[in-house]
Amino acid sequence: VGLYVHVPFCAVRCSYCDFATGSLSSAALERYLVAIEAEAARRAESARGVAFTSVFFGGGTPSALSSRAFRRVMAALRGSFEIAGDAEITLEANPESVKATLLNTWAESGVNRLSMGAQSFDPTELAELGRIHDAERPGAALELARRAGFTRLSLDLMFGFPSHEPSTWERTLDRLLELAPEHLSAYCYIPEADTPMGREVLRGTRRLPEVDVQADLYQTLHDRVAGHGYGAYEISNFARPHAEARHNLVYWLRRDYLGLGPSAHGLWRGVRYGNHATLDLWAGALERGEPCDVADPETERSRSDEIVMLGLRLSTGLRPADYDESTWAGTLRTYGRALDAAVATGRLIRRPDGWAIPRALRFLSDDCIAWVMAEAEREPFDSFASRSVPSQPCPDRPFRAA
Ligand code: SF4
Repeated sequence: VGLYVHVPFCAVRCSYCDFATGSLSSAALERYLVAIEAEAARRAESARGVAFTSVFFGGGTPSALSSRAFRRVMAALRGSFEIAGDAEITLEANPESVKATLLNTWAESGVNRLSMGAQSFDPTELAELGRIHDAERPGAALELARRAGFTRLSLDLMFGFPSHEPSTWERTLDRLLELAPEHLSAYCYIPEADTPMGREVLRGTRRLPEVDVQADLYQTLHDRVAGHGYGAYEISNFARPHAEARHNLVYWLRRDYLGLGPSAHGLWRGVRYGNHATLDLWAGALERGEPCDVADPETERSRSDEIVMLGLRLSTGLRPADYDESTWAGTLRTYGRALDAAVATGRLIRRPDGWAIPRALRFLSDDCIAWVMAEAEREPFDSFASRSVPSQPCPDRPFRAA
């Protein structure tokens, strides 16, 4: 059971990022803190008796919060929710903001896992991506974190962005393997229309590497990290044994989680909800005592869609044993035939405990998953028979072809 807290502030916006984030001012911060306290108190009742096994501070840049502000958020969480003694508590940190005093605050508050965005170790690429740290800073931040006692560290990388070269990717992976974090996330760049880099790509003024080159970059990543003991437990996530991110597994296995903060999403007691995206809308709603989210109760169909879409991302695959019996029965009703068809066409492999995307198709996972979902939509011709209208003579004058 997870708890996600969105921190919507960044020092500078990176050129590829469309996350809900803005600049940090003391007025915006105070408004955020008061609203987080209000939302935690409001959601506390529905979580009574639940011990959260994972907490994740994401953003934005949670490490942009001062020690005082972070302690206040943590106090709001501990005051409203029960957090299990052995919970995984992750904080996303930007390398440039990692400092000894903050590390001590995080450790004293129970944070036991740090996830840092490095993206690249090439100075030119970092400048193009709009990152404000240099190529040495992630290593220095990792070193500081280890000295402060953190043993579960993760780095984020990006590949396949405009001008990305196989040679710089190799050097970035060399450096990553030297730093040896316990966990690694590596995402293929996707152009977002409301970002500077995304606009240039979509207008055609910047070119992405060819898709075959992106696939090769992904394969290089797999081969290099596998040789150093990292298992690919999800399409974009790799971990040393027992270092998988518990919080991510909450999402992919569709366990309940509460989301707090602007743009945060939750899945709680059969209802998906999305909080208002901006600080202003979200905090404004809480200040007026109004709902700060839009809720969407699940249906058997929406649940089944998510089980297939998320479960197939995992290298363990889609496994009936991961779900309760009636949930899995509903999934099979919608997807049983499509899963068989995907196996027959080589898009999935059948294992004794479930279905999985074959290793060779992992770069194309999104396409395999989309195919399975489209196949479940497609009704065989015969299934329309009961709905067809008996043929009648046409009451109008027969149409004559010219
Ligand atoms: S620091 Fe992270 S959240 Fe902030 S703009 Fe950059 S990528 Fe986006």
